Amino acid sequence: MTAELMDGTGLARRIIAGAAGRAAELAAAGVVPCLATVIVGADPASVTYVRMKQRRLAAAGLAARPVELPESASTAAVTAVLRELSADPRVHGILLQHPVPAQVDERTAFEAIAPEKDVDGVTMRSFAALSFGRPGFAPATPGAIMALLDAYGVDPAGQHAVVIGRSPILGKPAGMMLLSRDATVTYCHSRTQGLAGIAATADILVAAVGRAELVRADWVRPGAVVIDAGYNAGNTGDVDPAAAEVAGLMAPVPGGVGPVTIAVLLDQTVTAAQQQAG
Ligand code: NAP
Repeated sequence: MTAELMDGTGLARRIIAGAAGRAAELAAAGVVPCLATVIVGADPASVTYVRMKQRRLAAAGLAARPVELPESASTAAVTAVLRELSADPRVHGILLQHPVPAQVDERTAFEAIAPEKDVDGVTMRSFAALSFGRPGFAPATPGAIMALLDAYGVDPAGQHAVVIGRSPILGKPAGMMLLSRDATVTYCHSRTQGLAGIAATADILVAAVGRAELVRADWVRPGAVVIDAGYNAGNTGDVDPAAAEVAGLMAPVPGGVGPVTIAVLLDQTVTAAQQQAG
């Protein structure tokens, strides 16, 4: 079997076109949706990610409010900036680029983001909302995973979804979103025994680890849906590309989850602006 490859770039283009249309309507009414991008330090990968997001924002007619804090910034300094942005009516969404330097308590910093501006879905309140099926913003990458599944007509209900990775911004909420769509969810992590065997029972396999090509082709059940959410040095994912010869449908790296993640962020920024404009 050779998998159909999911076209994340095409899906991202469609989501961004929709967001740009809604942003134009808001702009005509005097509100330009604005995302504040906060970066602490100058980690080259983070700088590249933030610039990419800013370019996409501009292309879609959204405004960016770039905030750069020094590498040495304290937790108090970062939270003070996030609180200020949370209180600023000209800012509709806030992104704190992570990882942050070690001296910053990332969780404390995230929690300083007002829930209505948490368009990257990183706060505990956003996680609780999605877990309880209440309105709120999804974390962008899990949101992208669900958007890809929906775009390709994959209904998670009754399917066995195996999520490898349980980070608070990716694996854990991805599993919760699959659960809320009635999948039977198994989480795997660094202490899981027999990972290959568990992966092989998945109807939907999500790899969210950060280990290049950890998931081998022979871990994949023939015909399964494979979502590679990893992104590692050298433009490689967490899944061996040879898995595409076994899977039925696969979101590859590059061109799968990555572009849709940025699209979800933009889309949720416009939604936040619409909600705040009443
Ligand atoms: P993270 O915070 O480091 O979490 C990694 C998770 O993988 C942890 O739950 C860890 O388990 C688990 N793990 C580590 N080694 C493992 C192993 N050998 N077997 C099974 N599980 C293992 O990373 P993250 O932020 O979730 O990111 C994961 C990947 O997604 C990275 O490649 C990152 O670049 C990518 N990512 C992509 C996007 C995108 O837009 N496409 C966005 C965000 C992240 P423990 O909990 O036990 O430590």
